[in-house]
Amino acid sequence: MGFTALGLSDKVLEGVRAMGYVQPTPIQLRAIPLVLAGHDVIGSAQTGTGKTAAFGLPMLSKLATHAPGPRTLILEPTRELAAQVETAIRDYARFTDLQVTVVYGGVGYGRQNEQLRAGTDIVVATPGRLLDHLEQGTLRLDKVQFLVLDEADRMLDMGFLPDVRRIVEKCPRQRHSSLFSATIPPQIETLIQWAMHNPETIEIGARRTPAETVKHVIYPVSDSQKSDLLLELLKRVNYNSVLIFCRTKHGADRIAGLLKKHNHAVAVLHSNRTQGEREQALRGFRDGRFEVLVATDIAARGLDIADVSHVINYDVPQHPEDYIHRIGRTGRAEHSGDAFTIMIAEDAPHVYSIERFISQKIPRVKLENFDYTYTALFEEAKAGQPQGFPGKVRAVRVRGGYHFAPGKRRR
Ligand code: AMP
Repeated sequence: MGFTALGLSDKVLEGVRAMGYVQPTPIQLRAIPLVLAGHDVIGSAQTGTGKTAAFGLPMLSKLATHAPGPRTLILEPTRELAAQVETAIRDYARFTDLQVTVVYGGVGYGRQNEQLRAGTDIVVATPGRLLDHLEQGTLRLDKVQFLVLDEADRMLDMGFLPDVRRIVEKCPRQRHSSLFSATIPPQIETLIQWAMHNPETIEIGARRTPAETVKHVIYPVSDSQKSDLLLELLKRVNYNSVLIFCRTKHGADRIAGLLKKHNHAVAVLHSNRTQGEREQALRGFRDGRFEVLVATDIAARGLDIADVSHVINYDVPQHPEDYIHRIGRTGRAEHSGDAFTIMIAEDAPHVYSIERFISQKIPRVKLENFDYTYTALFEEAKAGQPQGFPGKVRAVRVRGGYHFAPGKRRR
């Protein structure tokens, strides 16, 4: 079924066509009729499933034409996501006269005040700056008809829930609310009960399954060889664009420096960089000026960077959810991508919890002809267990590092 049968307005359908979308994604098929019919919706689909259009298209159809407002408020956890969602909504709305404004911190108030004063239909915002505008009286929410809480679990992680509550309290009770969240921890459940009215839940696929188009593997290595392995991977892999995740800002800067020294065009994205630097990094990565983007988890959620051919976890993520979010940056919208995770002995517990979380073993692989300090890492593969460590693994400390050895199997 195409988009035309879903009940969207002609102007919005024109916008969809201009985007080149032919088939609605599963979440769009299910959410669009619900939102059009006035239901509150909870979406627990992964990022990359087309959720922005899932709530954006019916919302725009119902707003139809410019009117005093804002009538829609979309809350996002980070500036990058706010900017990205604003761009998407603006694209979908391009054949309407609806006005879209993005509101986030780290930049001056001038332009935001001007746009708000001129009158806008849709505000896409991060919570902190939105509250500033409410306090300064440059924005009111008493005309809001559509409220979207995007990446709610991320807003929870970042400590925004009290701000979100204060904002929701300023919206009229009579409204449609949508909430998107990869996971629904108890605090989000409470928020749902408090802020939403008889919501319909849409769960696309198993919530914990990585996108099927992603091939993911683990490269075990000793700590001292991590950066050598990374450099070698970049040399051998035929990539268009690669996103590398590091645990710390300092680590990201260090890896970026190392890659620059080896003549890679590299940008860095983490929260110690100014808003201008962050935007420049993303823009340069999107338009191909940088082939490598080194980032901390700030970039892991939701960012839509087209055609990332490879994601490399230089550090294993410590929260299993972050693994899904990180590797969700590749293999988006049916393109296939590869996700590599570099693993050292200390990472074993985190890798196991990721594997439990996604209910899958991630294959361990060896980079052929790489000068490994320890070869015992791969004994298990030779023993006919290519799917990874069977049961337990012993990490054995040897001179200057560790090696892995298959542990006893549990009976
Ligand atoms: P999202 O999950 O909203 O961030 O969307 C992920 C990517 O899929 C974005 O690049 C969208 O432009 C794209 N997309 C969304 N819906 C469709 C569709 N129906 N057909 C093709 N691409 C889509």
